[in-house]
Amino acid sequence: MKMPYRRLGHSGLQVSALSFGSWVTFGTQVDTGLARECLGTAFDAGVNFFDNAEAYAGGESERIMGQAIAELGWDRQSYVVSTKVFWGLRDEVNMRNTLNRKYLFQAIDGSLERFGLDFVDLLYCHRPDRKTPIEETVWAMSDIISSGKALYWGTSEWTGAEIRAAWDIADRHHLHKPVVEQPQYNLFERQKVEQDYLRLYDDIGLGLTTWSPLASGLLTGKYLDGIPEGSRAALPGYEWLKGMLTDPTKNAIVRDLAAIAARLGVTTGQLAIAWCVSNRHVSSVILGASNVDQVRENLGALDALEQLTPEVREEIELLFLR
Ligand code: NDP
Repeated sequence: MKMPYRRLGHSGLQVSALSFGSWVTFGTQVDTGLARECLGTAFDAGVNFFDNAEAYAGGESERIMGQAIAELGWDRQSYVVSTKVFWGLRDEVNMRNTLNRKYLFQAIDGSLERFGLDFVDLLYCHRPDRKTPIEETVWAMSDIISSGKALYWGTSEWTGAEIRAAWDIADRHHLHKPVVEQPQYNLFERQKVEQDYLRLYDDIGLGLTTWSPLASGLLTGKYLDGIPEGSRAALPGYEWLKGMLTDPTKNAIVRDLAAIAARLGVTTGQLAIAWCVSNRHVSSVILGASNVDQVRENLGALDALEQLTPEVREEIELLFLR
């Protein structure tokens, strides 16, 4: 199937239904050469949105993506790139775990410098900051948009009420409104997208770019028989994911999902990704991959979409109610 493009909520911006991000991988498993191959493979398949964050690999992920895109020689018009800010890179007061105005203004400058770009298309508040007034953050984000350093802004893992409050403040003061939220969304994690944000899709035209469609690899079935060498669960620094990835109950469900995938002639991961794409509220499903073969396989999820009849969808969803 050809890559579909979807509007980011009610905004005019169109993003590919599958996009590609760099969390964990760039700077840890993926150097600039491999990044160039992965990005190039995705781009050639129609992916136009590439996701990043200040915090990924301590800024190195933005550097690698910027360098790889420069080497690929893409027109700036042809792709959408994002970054996310909140955690900060400097252990100093005002520069960590905040969305205050001072941090936000300095964070975007740092990101642009590492990317080697004049602007990012999307700028996300990577987490809510419950100590800074939402009004201060909204004014600062809106001013960044007005400065041209970012074209659209949004949130990541905010509650529905926080997103609504930010939108209302922007509306009241005629500021640039948040247009997108970036939540986790996969067969194991459905609450925010399917319940908490439900009113926001129509009421404020919220778009979604969703993360971890494979629950960090769990939904490929790669953890059915333990932890494969070199996989995310084996990486130093990611021990906190081990429990979730090797959970026997979750893996038993994945085993049954794998049987459905085999019957349909697709891979387990492709079926899990296609399930995310099939939600009409999702503007783009952000893929992760540590090598080119994974990128290719995951892009094949578009073909699995055709197999997702209402009956198959119901059969799959029943597994996850166990
Ligand atoms: P996934 O849940 O899809 O996990 C991707 C990982 O799974 C890969 O790095 C790889 O890990 C493994 N994998 C992927 N495809 C395959 C395959 N076909 N076969 C076997 N293993 C596979 O997505 P991510 O968790 O990486 O999230 C995707 C993107 O979402 C991130 O890059 C980032 O841009 C964004 N994100 C945003 C967050 C936020 O807070 N806003 C949080 C997290 C992610 P390995 O090979 O190492 O086992």
